[in-house]
Amino acid sequence: MGILNFDICALVILFILALSIVVRKLYIGRSNRLFCIMMLCIFISTVTDLLAGLYGGAITVSEDNLVIRAVIDYIYFLSRNITPVVYILYVVSYTGVWHIYVTDRKKCLFCSIPCGISLLLILTNPFTRLIFYFDEFFNYKRGVASVVLYIIAIGYIIASWRIMLKYRRLLSGDKLFALMTQLPVSLFTVVLQLVFPDLLVEMFGSAVVVLIISTILQRGEEMLDPLSGVQSYGASLDAIRKSFETQRTFRIVFLTVINSTVLRTYLGMDRFNQMLKEIGSKITHCCTVYKMQADVYYLQNGTFAIVTGEDDMETITAMSDAMIENLNRPFEVQHFKTELDCRCCIVRCPEDIDGYEGVVNFESTLNNILSDEKRAVMLSEIVNSDDFKLKSELDDVIADAIQKKKFQMYYQPIYDARKMKFVSAEALIRLIDDKYGFVSPGLFIPAAEASGAIHQIGDYVIDAVCEFMSKCDLDKMGLEYIEINLSAAQCVETDLVFKVLSTLDKYKLTPDKINLEMTETAADADPSMVDSNLKRLNEKGIRFSLDDYGTGYSNIKRVISLPFDIVKLDKSFVDEMDDPQMWIVIKNTVNMLHEMKKDILVEGVEEEKTLNRFLNLGCEYIQGFYFSKPLPAREFIKFMLENNH
Ligand code: C2E
Ligand code: MG
Ligand code: MG
Repeated sequence: MGILNFDICALVILFILALSIVVRKLYIGRSNRLFCIMMLCIFISTVTDLLAGLYGGAITVSEDNLVIRAVIDYIYFLSRNITPVVYILYVVSYTGVWHIYVTDRKKCLFCSIPCGISLLLILTNPFTRLIFYFDEFFNYKRGVASVVLYIIAIGYIIASWRIMLKYRRLLSGDKLFALMTQLPVSLFTVVLQLVFPDLLVEMFGSAVVVLIISTILQRGEEMLDPLSGVQSYGASLDAIRKSFETQRTFRIVFLTVINSTVLRTYLGMDRFNQMLKEIGSKITHCCTVYKMQADVYYLQNGTFAIVTGEDDMETITAMSDAMIENLNRPFEVQHFKTELDCRCCIVRCPEDIDGYEGVVNFESTLNNILSDEKRAVMLSEIVNSDDFKLKSELDDVIADAIQKKKFQMYYQPIYDARKMKFVSAEALIRLIDDKYGFVSPGLFIPAAEASGAIHQIGDYVIDAVCEFMSKCDLDKMGLEYIEINLSAAQCVETDLVFKVLSTLDKYKLTPDKINLEMTETAADADPSMVDSNLKRLNEKGIRFSLDDYGTGYSNIKRVISLPFDIVKLDKSFVDEMDDPQMWIVIKNTVNMLHEMKKDILVEGVEEEKTLNRFLNLGCEYIQGFYFSKPLPAREFIKFMLENNH
């Protein structure tokens, strides 16, 4: 009788692994499923190996139980010889080259020939006795062709090595190592068992390999998203990168829950997570209904990605439409009724986006790009619109503008109600792109803030405004100072004070010639840095205005603690002044700010009626299209000369 302890140890290892897979739900996704199948095969082989070991030992083989003994052996041989095939499929899937090997029918057929031979040998064994047989004393004997099974199995493992080595750039070192352990461990245990037939270590070796792979490759925290129960963001990046590197043709269906931020607040964290789980399972269900082989990922912030190799666009569109329709119905999470607002965009790779970075960038701009339509849209449908192109190329457009100095400064006159003349202007940046024409600062400033290009733009603005002022006859124009917008990112620059003062110095201007504008949000960016910058600049005589007052969250304590001389009431106040409630707010805001000794500038005044109402309230400054739109330098000078005399 063989020493069965190794088989028993193997079973213990496999049992613990199976438990951990079930607990960690590591059976989602193709690679995970193949790993589970591989474990199952090894488990069956181990159990049958153990049972076979009992016969001839604890159980005496006789004519009565010979059939059972033979059936055990057949099951053993079948599961044992299927394992290397599942293993190679696992390697192919994990490496991300499934589309190269498995979808190629010819390659697939060719690779299954050896496995077919193994199965044929096993299934015909009752007649041929080539694999094993029992002699007249019911002793188990290996047949002459049993070595063929070993050769074929080793052949598959060597082929797996070839694939791993060929695509090693797709696997990190530790993962490659874990996958490669299969060959040496198998060879070692097979040889050991051949030399010492009583030592049943073969299955123990397989269990150890599975343990190594499971520890290093099957990392739940890397593969699964614990909130949504589908695959993780990291896993999606890995899959997409591998797909591009191996020139796979694939499609990504992005599904975004537009109102996810609101829902998180409304539902609370627990219910929101439950909702994500339900969305994840609804998406998976939809893919199954449409018989679409796909991997579902959660990319955070309410966005899911369904990655599929499916070629038929009609199936993908139909599945996506059904998915949106299904999800946009009233939704109930733990007795809370709610409604999702889902949008969907289908991206063909490589036709629409041909690189890994492109997909990652696209993901980050997805919410801006999605249309209002509650049906699945193809990226190719919107990709040709100028709006989409501009948004996706904005960083390049900005970089080009910086490099070729394409920015221009426009000046919008500001009327002083006490002096009854135009005493200042707000400097507003303009970008005319060769391809897209006028690009609104409302669009490119936030993009520049996100990319960091705002620092160069900010430097340009300060320099350009100072240069303009140094060339003007300020007294003749009646221009006392110019307001310059500062972004949040600029307010926290460590060398802001130096930059502003040295630029003023360069153009021989006194600090009272500029007034820096910042918003409430910018003032709150990094309070200690903002405080320090503002204080130091204020000490040098530079004044500040608080821009867009009323649009951010007004931390009134903070507003009064900072040295703002002017508070600019946002256009939204002006737009709603006919609402009696709003007018009460406006009147009291003006009174409050006056009592705080702040001057008030009203932005966005377009009509005489508006002008008069705010002048009657005692607002000090007025800016808006009623007087003038922002003007290029030359026209602005003309405007000032004409209107101040
Ligand atoms: P902002 O600082 O609040 O500038 C006022 C915006 O309102 C300007 O838009 C101006 O053209 C517009 N405006 C002025 N009067 C009226 C009016 O009567 N009616 C209407 N409908 N609009 C009026 P613009 O130039 O498109 O700038 C948008 C925003 O972009 C600015 O808002 C500012 O936040 C940012 N921005 C513009 N130039 C710069 C700059 O040089 N640096 C930085 N950091 N931001 C800038
Ligand atoms: Mg402004
Ligand atoms: Mg403003």
